[in-house]
Amino acid sequence: MKSLEQLTRKNIWNLAPYSSARNEYAGREARVFLDANENPYNQPYNRYPDPLQLELKTAIAKVKGVPAENIFLGNGSDEAIDLPYRCFCEPGKDNVVAIEPTYGMYKVCADINDTEYRTVLLDEHFQTTADKLLAATDEHTKIIWLCTPNNPTGNCLIREEVIKVIEGFDGLVIVDEAYSDFSSQKPLRAELAKYPNLIVLNTMSKAWGCAAIRLGMAFASKEIIDIFNKVKYPYNVNLLTQQQALKALQDPFEVDGWVKILKEERGRVMQAFSILPICEKIYPTDANFFLAKMTDANKIYNYLVDQGIIVRNRNRVQLCQNCLRITIGTKTENSELIAALRQY
Ligand code: PMP
Repeated sequence: MKSLEQLTRKNIWNLAPYSSARNEYAGREARVFLDANENPYNQPYNRYPDPLQLELKTAIAKVKGVPAENIFLGNGSDEAIDLPYRCFCEPGKDNVVAIEPTYGMYKVCADINDTEYRTVLLDEHFQTTADKLLAATDEHTKIIWLCTPNNPTGNCLIREEVIKVIEGFDGLVIVDEAYSDFSSQKPLRAELAKYPNLIVLNTMSKAWGCAAIRLGMAFASKEIIDIFNKVKYPYNVNLLTQQQALKALQDPFEVDGWVKILKEERGRVMQAFSILPICEKIYPTDANFFLAKMTDANKIYNYLVDQGIIVRNRNRVQLCQNCLRITIGTKTENSELIAALRQY
């Protein structure tokens, strides 16, 4: 791996971050806060939230098995997708490599940050190899993006190939494990201590059922987390989000229950799709959604919209021609979808 200084943009490496009132005060018990130009009324919303979200990180550390100092929290994982570009990619000069198809925000953030986005097309099993990914890199490649289980294909990438990429690349490898709670593969965040160039993304938006609160996380070395903390907005995770996330984290068993039901339902819905005359193929999945190749995705999508049922039309995505991406809902919602398709 190149040194972190070599990988970080010079202006960011040299950045003196904003120091907020609450950053500067730390330590002894205090009773009177006259430091942050807040209004003393309307408690508790009058006070700025903890800029480094320590209480929340301590709770996440327990559930995820990652030390608090190795955790960055953001406004959804979308913030943790944008931030690495701003920290590491020199606009107009550096590039990143990603699999194709994959989650669209990696490219959108590359475009926003004027960073060349190189793609490696997956094969017909939606897999790739470390050799193909590494061959797409050059001396200006700062990041390789991997998503496993991948969106929109649903499958996990081959773990040995992912490890080979991490071991063989001298830049940063970001593995988005947004859907790993639905997968039987061991999450890569467990390997963080071994790989200083690895960043793993997680989110509260999927298995944890908290998409509305916007809480995403990046797990990485303390040195990388320190760089993220320098660049992020001072109070990027608001108090309501921190409180709600803490509440959700108190009951991980509820999440386990949801995941179990969703996986069972996933099996039932996929089985029903497999015998629909309008479904040509269903792809194996490790996520809370699956991809189905239909006879005519556009027509079927519009038909479902007319019935008030919205799925994701992936027809225009490479390798996904005529594919619909189906998110697993409640039993009733899934049954409605199946019933509507049987009537098509
Ligand atoms: N990563 C992947 C792979 C996703 O599919 C999504 C959402 N569709 C996200 C990240 C974004 O998650 P968040 O809600 O945490 O921004």
